[in-house]
Amino acid sequence: MKLFVFSDVHGNLRALDAVLAAYREFSPCRLLFLGDAVGYGAHPDACLDRLLALPRSRMIMGNHDWAVLDPNEKDNFNSDAFAAIDWTVNTLKGKYNDSLIRKFDMTVECDEFLAAHGSPLHPEEFLYIFSIFDAEQVFMAFDFLLCFVGHTHVPMVYTYVGGPKSLEPGEPFALDPSDRYIINPGSVGQPRDGDNRASFMIFDPDGRTVTLHRLEYDIEAEAKDITDAGLPGRFAERLFEGR
Ligand code: ZN
Repeated sequence: MKLFVFSDVHGNLRALDAVLAAYREFSPCRLLFLGDAVGYGAHPDACLDRLLALPRSRMIMGNHDWAVLDPNEKDNFNSDAFAAIDWTVNTLKGKYNDSLIRKFDMTVECDEFLAAHGSPLHPEEFLYIFSIFDAEQVFMAFDFLLCFVGHTHVPMVYTYVGGPKSLEPGEPFALDPSDRYIINPGSVGQPRDGDNRASFMIFDPDGRTVTLHRLEYDIEAEAKDITDAGLPGRFAERLFEGR
């Protein structure tokens, strides 16, 4: 069965709904969510409601989700992100803490793949994989053919043999069974690769491909919700820029 892979929703409900509509079209699929359900966006509660109700799903804890559970983590964020975490904690008022702890794992490891929000090396430190040097450390430390990560908000493939590769939306990327891969599906709710559309990916284990997909959604309405909520305006601007 295909695996529907998505990450970094960040409280963006309209982007998440667009991606979940695509999930229903592609179904039956299993689901892998790579973390950061909340933070930046105006709809952390509705996004968590949607995510926690998904069947056949594995969910991973992101650094923003973790900061909702542990107030000490807020010190690791810049002032705008810190303000958004504070706002999110107040909005959720502890309502989702138990379900986050129960349903969200730091890593997922199975025969088919390894997955974490940032680097699976010390997953609770949420290190970024931004370069082939970061990727190499992960290739050396673990024994996997396929590793899914989020956190950078930039879709990317790092191969063990062939170096970094970019992904074209809608074009299947073939996975050579003799190579190894670290794959980032980009961000649903705060893309940072210059493309403002919501991002997700399909892994086809039979055809040995991953395919990136991008979807438009109502950015204007979502950005207005962010400013109306009193969240830092920069988070609304970034939705238009995709940076
Ligand atoms: Zn994130």
